[in-house]
Amino acid sequence: MSVTLYLAIPCYNEEAVLPETARRLREKFAELRADGRITDASRICFIDDGSRDRTWELIAALHDADRVFSGIKLTRNRGHQNALLCGLMTLRDRADCVISMDADLQDDINAIGEMLDRFAEGCDVVYGVRSRRETDTAFKRRSAERFYRVLRALGADVVFNHADYRLMSRRALDALSEYGEVNLFLRGLVPLVGYKSGVVYYARGERFAGESKYPLKKMLSFAWEGVTSLSVQPLRCITRLGVLMFFVSIVMLIWFLIRHVTGHTVTGWSSLAVSIWAIGGLQLLALGVVGEYVGKIYLEAKGRPRYRVETLLDDREDVGA
Ligand code: UDP
Ligand code: MG
Repeated sequence: MSVTLYLAIPCYNEEAVLPETARRLREKFAELRADGRITDASRICFIDDGSRDRTWELIAALHDADRVFSGIKLTRNRGHQNALLCGLMTLRDRADCVISMDADLQDDINAIGEMLDRFAEGCDVVYGVRSRRETDTAFKRRSAERFYRVLRALGADVVFNHADYRLMSRRALDALSEYGEVNLFLRGLVPLVGYKSGVVYYARGERFAGESKYPLKKMLSFAWEGVTSLSVQPLRCITRLGVLMFFVSIVMLIWFLIRHVTGHTVTGWSSLAVSIWAIGGLQLLALGVVGEYVGKIYLEAKGRPRYRVETLLDDREDVGA
C-alpha cells in the first residue's frame, strides 16, 4: 500500500543539524518511495519556530533545491508543542498520515517503516517508544521515567517513554483539531483522541550537532504543564491535606486542653512557633497550586491563537488549506 506521508519537524535555531537531517531524511524517503511504501506526493516539512539563526534560509533553500522539502514559518517563537501542533494542523489535509519528530534525529528514522506497517494494519496512532535511554544523561533518564510514573499515578493516560515521535492518521488529526486548549501537552492529548493505536520501539540516539533546546528549566515547566493540563489531582491533594490538618488540629486542641487542665500553659513556645510557620507555608503552597489552575483558566478563557503561520512553502498548493 502506498500512502502519502508528511513528516512534521519543528526546528528552533537548528542550523547546525538541518543540512545533515535533510540529507538523511531525503535518503530515507527515496528508499521508501522505491519500495512503493509512500507516494510521490509525500513531503518532509520543517516548521521554523521563530528561529533567530539561519534556520529559515536553510529550509527555503532546501525547498528550492528539492520539492520533497516543504516549510512552514511561524511569525515568532511559540515553543515546541505549538510549533508541532501548527505542523500537524497545517499538513493534515495534504496527507494520509503525518509523522512528527525532532530536528536532531534523536528518534531513529528507521522506525518510520514499522510505523507505516502499523498504519497499514489499521492503527490511527502509532507511538514511537524509546526502548532504552542510554544516550540520555542518567539524570535526564531518571527524572523522565519518574515523571511518566507521576503522571500515571495522577490519572493521566500517557504512553510510557513516548515523546513526540508518532504517526497520526488524517482522521486522528481531525479529531485532535477539536481540542482547543492553549495549555498544550500533546503526548497527553493524543491518547484522549482514541482510535486503534500501536507501538513501535526504537533506541534513542544522541543529538549529533547543536545544543538541546530543552534546558532543565524548560523541562521542569513542561513537566508541570503536563501535570496541570491532564490532571486535577493536585487540587484534590490540597483538599485531602485540609481534611488531614483539620483532624490534626482537633488532636492538638485536646492535647492543649489537657495541658491547660494540668497547669502547663506557658511552655510550648517552640511548638507554637513551628506550627505557625508550617501552616503558613502549607497555606501558601495550596494557594499557589490553586493559583496555577486559575492562571490556566485565564489563559484558556482568552482563547488566543496558538500559532500563526507567516509563510508556507509547499508545492502542492492545490490540496486542502
Ligand atoms: N524546538 C522548537 N521550539 C522551541 C524549542 C525546541 O521547535 O522553542 C524543537 C527543536 O528544534 C527540536 C525539538 O523541538 O526539533 C526538540 O528539542 P531538543 O532536541 O532540543 O530537545 P531534547 O531532545 O534535548 O529534549
Ligand atoms: Mg533532541
